[in-house]
Amino acid sequence: MAIKKIMVIGAGQMGGGIAQVAAQSGLQVVLNDIDAVLIDQRIAFIAKTLSRNVEKGRISEDEKQSILARLTASTDLQDAAEVDFVVEAATEKMEIKAQIFRSLDEIARPGVILATNTSSLPITEVAAVTRRPESVIGMHFMNPVPVMALVEIIRGIATSDEVFMTVEALATLMGKTAVEVNDYPGFISNRVLMPMINEAIFCVYEGVAKPEAVDQVMKLGMNHPMGPLTLADFIGLDTCLAIMEVLYEGFADSKYRPCPLLRKMVKAGWLGKKSGRGFYTY
Ligand code: NAD
Repeated sequence: MAIKKIMVIGAGQMGGGIAQVAAQSGLQVVLNDIDAVLIDQRIAFIAKTLSRNVEKGRISEDEKQSILARLTASTDLQDAAEVDFVVEAATEKMEIKAQIFRSLDEIARPGVILATNTSSLPITEVAAVTRRPESVIGMHFMNPVPVMALVEIIRGIATSDEVFMTVEALATLMGKTAVEVNDYPGFISNRVLMPMINEAIFCVYEGVAKPEAVDQVMKLGMNHPMGPLTLADFIGLDTCLAIMEVLYEGFADSKYRPCPLLRKMVKAGWLGKKSGRGFYTY
């Protein structure tokens, strides 16, 4: 089935980025959320981003207008009946994703691929709520989507080769480099990244060094563009904790034990940049 029209579910920072990149690559995009106001805000944000690209001479005004014309808003999941592909980027909760996929399975035409942008939930478990597990797959974009080149494509236990190849081609069309991953906790990106962030937090917890020093070592010594604690603040400490819990439970291995300081900060509501305070103040 040729993919010409897609639905992106969730108009948050990731869904908005995916919708923008998909529309830029010529696809018709239906941006769906339960909150109509959020969709309008997100489309306004995309328009602003595109205007900046026009000012910088990256795209023409005409191109901007045609990208925006390819984007439509939807608060009704039934609109999934008209699309050739769905990628879900709603809130990171299994109950929410299970409910969305159960409904999508009823609504989307047979054979339509249902992808999820989850950062940590098992693809196999999401797929199991549908009667088309062979057509369910992980398509994990990085934040911010318009800037980052990588998409991890995660095969659930039942995902078919044909579905994998279709999604790989779609990622390429969207200007991304796809990396194939099997469905295990944290995939590759968060399995490698999060324990490093967690270890950086342990360094602060054990009094090895202050956050600034930990970040400086990784920036100047390892050439990381940003220190792990700054990155943790940007990702959100609640999200970091949730991913560590997935690794800890998924592998039942103490090496993934979330640092007690991370738990304490999340309990305090110190979630990083979004709450104004994390390892740094904003
Ligand atoms: P976000 O909170 O910015 O956006 C989530 C959106 O989902 C909200 O607009 C919310 O209204 C909407 N939503 C909730 N329930 C819905 C439903 N039933 N139907 C339709 N919309 C619904 O979150 P985000 O950071 O954009 O993350 C979205 C997904 O992307 C998550 O699965 C997350 O793990 C994943 N992800 C996030 C990042 C990141 O850095 N933030 C990176 C990669 C992947």
